[in-house]
Amino acid sequence: MRQNHYHADMISVEEARSKILDNFFTLNVKSVDILECLGLVVSEDVLSPLNIPPFNNSAMDGYAVISSDTQLASNENVVNLKILETIKAGSVPTVKVIKGSASRIMTGAPIPEGADSIVPFEDTTELDWNINSDKSFVGVKIPGDVGANFRQLGKDLSLGEIVVKKSTTLTPSLIGLLASVGFETINIIRQPVVAILSTGDELVEPGQLIQPGQIFDSNTYSIYSSVLQLGAIPKIIGIARDNRQSVIEMIEKSLDSDFVISSAGVSKGDYDVVKDVMGEMGNLNFWSVNMRPAKPLAFGKLKTSTSFVPIIGLPGNPVSSLVAFEQFCRPAIRKMMGKTIDDRKIIRAKLIDSIENYDSRRVYARVIVESKNGNFTATTTGDQGSNILTSMAKANGLAICPENISEIVPGQEVDVILLDNSIELN
Ligand code: AMP
Ligand code: MG
Repeated sequence: MRQNHYHADMISVEEARSKILDNFFTLNVKSVDILECLGLVVSEDVLSPLNIPPFNNSAMDGYAVISSDTQLASNENVVNLKILETIKAGSVPTVKVIKGSASRIMTGAPIPEGADSIVPFEDTTELDWNINSDKSFVGVKIPGDVGANFRQLGKDLSLGEIVVKKSTTLTPSLIGLLASVGFETINIIRQPVVAILSTGDELVEPGQLIQPGQIFDSNTYSIYSSVLQLGAIPKIIGIARDNRQSVIEMIEKSLDSDFVISSAGVSKGDYDVVKDVMGEMGNLNFWSVNMRPAKPLAFGKLKTSTSFVPIIGLPGNPVSSLVAFEQFCRPAIRKMMGKTIDDRKIIRAKLIDSIENYDSRRVYARVIVESKNGNFTATTTGDQGSNILTSMAKANGLAICPENISEIVPGQEVDVILLDNSIELN
């Protein structure tokens, strides 16, 4: 077992995370069209301004009857009732049901005064009618119980009851519920605008021609999609080149956002200009975080005319930037959105192959988790190089090898952070 003191200059993942999260706060409340609210967090208890259902109505197409009229009804002994009217959904009854009578009623239509039971068409003679039948009377074939096929006023929600609790994340059914009580807009915690910026002279936008020595920018696209998946608003700033003018220009374009995520230019070999300029435009700390991948990380605040915008500088390698996003940006964005900072599930899985940890870091190994008869297995996705994006794309989990463990061998159990919902949990 090796000790952490080899890394006196490094900070732990937890320390970096807490230093970062201390600078993020829940954003302000905004009234938003309910159609724009999926996945957003409600900022206050929402009370129902009405009863749902708003009136007693029928759960079936049938007849509104007086239960006591029908007590002796059967197939052999149908009870004939005089038909008063037909009540459609969306209309109101015009006459009271009295002894010996019934009103035809459609699903969702208000129940007429006097009636205390709904007998479905199937249990009446209506379905037996032909062209010659007398349609001023209907024969009821079963006893209608009191309250049968009634939808009671206020059964679903009563006036003043909480429809959606404060801090709830809105789902499709909750949005339907808000509509059902008449809300067009709702107060939610607004979505952060996250500015995304790549840095490097070698980068080319996909769709452009590539020259020798250049590579396509992938971080902008993976980070954009990660931000979008969290329900925040990604804003692509572009590629800053490794010169003062370009970095200044790009940072200035980022300043009206809530959070800036840049990638690359934070490790040792970089042109200092990126770091220097970002530092001049606010304050920027460079850390070595005791993890692999994604050791180098920058965090700081950029000065705006009125305050500061937090910035996280992710490492440039495509896998490192995603793993660091997972550890640091994801909780920061969730915090701004009023959500719990960590929602990822961690499971125990049996490792099929092995994970090496030769320098006492916290290793996040890309793995494929499978569920076999209720037991989980994890298999690494192959080459764990921080530039191997295919191995991240295959993974549905990150297996954690702790700092003080130098190797996890086949058959041993590991903690795995699940990155998606592909695994069924019981
Ligand atoms: P750097 O931190 O600038 O030294 O970058 C580390 C590695 O990540 C280099 O191989 C870069 O070419 C690569 N890299 C940096 N930014 C990106 C990006 N936006 N997309 C893909 N690869 C990148
Ligand atoms: Mg670079």
